[in-house]
Amino acid sequence: VELAGSALKFLSRFVEVPTVNPPGEGYEAFAKLAESLLRDMGFSVEVIEVPSDYLDMYYPYAPAHRGYPRYVVLGRYGEGSPVLHFNGHYDVVPPGSGWSYEPFKATIVGDRVYGRGTTDMKGGIAAVLVAVESLLKEGFEPRGTIEVALVPDEEAGGVGSRFLVERILKAAPDYVIIAEPTTSTMVSIGHKGMVRGLVRVFGKQVHGSTPWLGENAFLIAARLASRFSELYEPILRSRRTSAPVLLPEGAYPTINLGGYAESTSRKDNIVPGEFVFSFDRRLIPEESVDEVVRELRELLDRASKEVGSRYELKVLGSVPPSATPTEAAVVRLVSNCIEEVLGVKPSLYLSFGRNDLVYYTNTLRAYGVCYGPGIMNVAHTADEYTTIPELENSARVYRCVIRRALGDGGSSL
Ligand SMILES: [Zn+2]
Repeated sequence: VELAGSALKFLSRFVEVPTVNPPGEGYEAFAKLAESLLRDMGFSVEVIEVPSDYLDMYYPYAPAHRGYPRYVVLGRYGEGSPVLHFNGHYDVVPPGSGWSYEPFKATIVGDRVYGRGTTDMKGGIAAVLVAVESLLKEGFEPRGTIEVALVPDEEAGGVGSRFLVERILKAAPDYVIIAEPTTSTMVSIGHKGMVRGLVRVFGKQVHGSTPWLGENAFLIAARLASRFSELYEPILRSRRTSAPVLLPEGAYPTINLGGYAESTSRKDNIVPGEFVFSFDRRLIPEESVDEVVRELRELLDRASKEVGSRYELKVLGSVPPSATPTEAAVVRLVSNCIEEVLGVKPSLYLSFGRNDLVYYTNTLRAYGVCYGPGIMNVAHTADEYTTIPELENSARVYRCVIRRALGDGGSSL
């Protein structure tokens, strides 16, 4: 079967719809296009608008969403279980500057296809659609259901998938595959969690010429931060995830202090009475957000007592970690297909950044993986590209996955 040509056709049409987020341009056009492609393949399709009050609550750039309606496109083919669920986000980050090609046109140069979203992740959506379409054209009838969910706003905390999982899907699918770009030979089984926020340290504000009258909150914060960090580092190093990682250092939980920091007075002739610094704590799957917040408080209390400071902790956001056990059926299914179709042993890994898998694993208790075509480290850059072999290889693996999960065990892959 000829997959690459059809994948390129889909991909070109997708790239030409500039679904830039924020604020969420072109979502309606993309949803209509996806709906008609899925219907043409024989899917029943629901196009569900994400309610505005839901976006007010969860869209991080709210109210920038107003006037830009958002849609989840949910296609189903077949019926009953098992359910094989594919997820792809159709929003892309803004093009930024420095492009040698038009960002919203798929430009083919040799094996490469340039354009915003080619790797992250309209290429993945194209590969899923081409795998499904080619099988159905051959007369394949699934024993169970193929679901294809195309969602907005992954590039803004995953509001689309969150809505789908919390309000639309009634039960956990048997297999979840998010077509994020892992490259065609690697499988991500989950991601680290995050707790981020601010520590505000109090002193006493006076004129900069009479520092003996005040208490410099910056100096107190510096002592607090360094003592806190001394106490915390050995604790973090004593924990190690059992999930597979690509870099050895990635196995540990981490904390980054002072990504930004400032005296609230912001003036050199004022002895600062308040100083604020940020923290960004990354969690391994064995940790939970609640435990980590408790632990941050405990250690800040201890360090604070030792250096004699007063502080306030403010948590600004959190994402729970997510991990599917490597022995889960979906991990075996995808890994076996990569091995069988591409003849290589796949690498399994825990991602550092968040993706939408977390909603499936934590809300629905479903097992899932990220697996899809793309090139490492080009997502969000100028001259983002994917390659024709990547598209073709993952489409072949998806075909194998569909047949194995829902199939007749037929001969050709
Ligand atoms: Zn993505």
